[in-house]
Amino acid sequence: MVVALPHAIRDDLDAYKTALAQYDRAAKHLSDVDDGVLMFMKYPRREFTVNFPVRRDNGTMEMFTGYRVHHNTALGPTKGGLRFSLGVTLDEVRALAMWMTWKCALVNIPYGGAKGGVVVDPRTLSQRELENLTRRYATELVPLISPQMDIPAPDMGTNPQVMAWIMDTYSMTVGYSVPAIVTGKPIGIGGSHGRTQATGRGVIVIMEAALAKHNLTNPADIRIAIQGFGNVGSNAALYAEELGYKVVAVSDVEGGIYNPNGLDIKGVINHMHNTGTAVGYLDAEPVGNSALLELPCDVLIPAALEGQITEKNAEEIQAKFIIEGANGPTTPEADDILNERGVFIVPDILANAGGVIVSYFEWVQDLQAFFWDETEVFNRLVRIMGDAFERTYATATDKQVDMRTAAQITAIKRVADVITTRGFYP
Ligand code: NAD
Repeated sequence: MVVALPHAIRDDLDAYKTALAQYDRAAKHLSDVDDGVLMFMKYPRREFTVNFPVRRDNGTMEMFTGYRVHHNTALGPTKGGLRFSLGVTLDEVRALAMWMTWKCALVNIPYGGAKGGVVVDPRTLSQRELENLTRRYATELVPLISPQMDIPAPDMGTNPQVMAWIMDTYSMTVGYSVPAIVTGKPIGIGGSHGRTQATGRGVIVIMEAALAKHNLTNPADIRIAIQGFGNVGSNAALYAEELGYKVVAVSDVEGGIYNPNGLDIKGVINHMHNTGTAVGYLDAEPVGNSALLELPCDVLIPAALEGQITEKNAEEIQAKFIIEGANGPTTPEADDILNERGVFIVPDILANAGGVIVSYFEWVQDLQAFFWDETEVFNRLVRIMGDAFERTYATATDKQVDMRTAAQITAIKRVADVITTRGFYP
């Protein structure tokens, strides 16, 4: 039996529309950048689509579609995650690749932006099927990736094990071990200490910087709600709890849980390991994913999907701070409403940059075959994120713009300067 492509092609192009609208807003403040350079940076440099078969455990052949987009390569090799999700589309990957370009430029690491994905719900595959799908997709990517060209990492639906299979597949293809081909690997094969926790912890580092600017320095007074309890959401929750903040709500794809007095995060994680979801945790009441966004809290951390905060719910959000763990969770229309209401939004390209920063550390360690301990990784991460926050805050104050526009201005200007210095080929 043969199963055709599970076409999850959506007719909404929201993420890419959002990325382009944000770019246009920032570009208005870059009158010193040549129009040709501004136009060039809007386009993805390369786009790759592949359709490939995987044999299911029951003998059926099933077709899958995968993508990889290299947005801009001016600063160095491209860097960006791989997403395994039914929501993956070429437009979503384009948006995520573009955001990676700005994120790397903003935090001053020598990478361009990329992203990839496969249209699949990984939870519907056995471990063997997941390995075969990953290895086949990785083989298809071989002409596009290398430690000098493009270095994938985990994103939604992928994890260190998936990275290990990609590292092994690439290494078997070239005939020797190439740890620097991916980041977010298990430590035993060249992964970095602190990579798994990096994005979530970085979100909290940035949240603390934002709160401090508003003289909010007592963690026990701050209530946090987190949408998405995967790598980013759960590590943010754990670190926030460790620092004494009150995490009052978390959610995953099945739904959410709420306890106004604060959840016991380790308890929720145990429950999730046993049942596969945070839902059903006893010491909390159930709450839907969209209702979670509107709960009474001080800080809202979206850490799941794009397009969650829109003009439909922006008025209802009670949090005074939004720290974007997810990529692209807020639409430009919602930005306008929230900025008007005085909500302080730290944009994705700053707030969740901890992942790519420690990925950069992992790549550097792999290339040097010289490894650092967790304290060194974390101290360097905090320094880079703190500097990026201060620079962005200063630009926002100086230009009288919101933090997202300030971050985009800084990042786009850096890439534009590099393009201008390098000149146009031929
Ligand atoms: P993950 O797969 O580990 O977790 C995703 C979480 O979101 C899970 O809890 C899942 O159940 C939940 N979810 C999925 N669909 C949902 C829906 N429709 N409604 C509510 N929740 C839903 O992924 P992750 O790596 O934690 O990534 C989450 C977000 O953070 C993504 O936007 C990703 O691009 C971004 N991000 C991740 C990293 C990283 O290092 N992993 C770095 C930067 C940004």
